[in-house]
Amino acid sequence: MPEYPEIFNRAREMQQVLPGRSIQSITVLQEKCLNLPEADFNSKVTGQTFTRIHSNGKWILAELTQGTLLLNLGMGGEVFFHYKDEPLPEKKRIILQLEGEDRLSINFWWFGYFHYVPEGRLHKHSMVSILGPDVMQISSDDFTRLVSGSKQRIKTLLLDQKRLAGIGNYYIHDIFFKAGIHPLTPAHNLSAAQIGTLYTRMRAELQSSVDKGGADYEYNLWGGKGSYASDQLLVGYKEGRPCPVCQTEIIKIATGSTASYICPSCQPIL
Ligand SMILES: [Zn+2]
Repeated sequence: MPEYPEIFNRAREMQQVLPGRSIQSITVLQEKCLNLPEADFNSKVTGQTFTRIHSNGKWILAELTQGTLLLNLGMGGEVFFHYKDEPLPEKKRIILQLEGEDRLSINFWWFGYFHYVPEGRLHKHSMVSILGPDVMQISSDDFTRLVSGSKQRIKTLLLDQKRLAGIGNYYIHDIFFKAGIHPLTPAHNLSAAQIGTLYTRMRAELQSSVDKGGADYEYNLWGGKGSYASDQLLVGYKEGRPCPVCQTEIIKIATGSTASYICPSCQPIL
């Protein structure tokens, strides 16, 4: 599932090629990803020009001359840019024909969202308006307040997009390991020093993947792959292997609806 590093990078790549380009036509092969009937969606978006593309958590926001396109890749997907003579990929759900005959294709592995929101209505969008602060934008003080004021398990809290937007279940195992924190720890049991360490490790881990172009199973806008490889993870998905710090066997545990990988010695529960 794409998380902050992949979504931030996709938005940044889209920002490199889309501003100033108009949308000539839209082909939708998965109508349920839209928030409007297809004909209505097409009439509102066709002819508009991209102005700025950015991200918030796991959402890409593509601003148009009037309104915004919102893209969420759900469990996974690809966004590809195609120069005019390049063939489209076999798997695609949406195709945007751009001015100058270049195209943008979007694929969802399972399902995703491609919504149009008119000017000034973003605060009414049922999913984007309730997002917490972006994980890389939240200040240290706000993060401390968020964590120390919550009785939820720390992992449950960090995965809750309404509290903090952008983290999923891939990078989080190493974030907790590097911070020496057990994912089932009640958030308000963490000391100020532990919260500070968590804040630092969380941002460093995500930035490291951003710098490598995201996970190595994700594609960028031009079909290249990220280079953050899963074998770079220290404990994530390393069940049965020795902890790189203390050699204790890494275990996989259930944490609510998700699994977690931890070193039981380096990550004591509080
Ligand atoms: Zn250990």
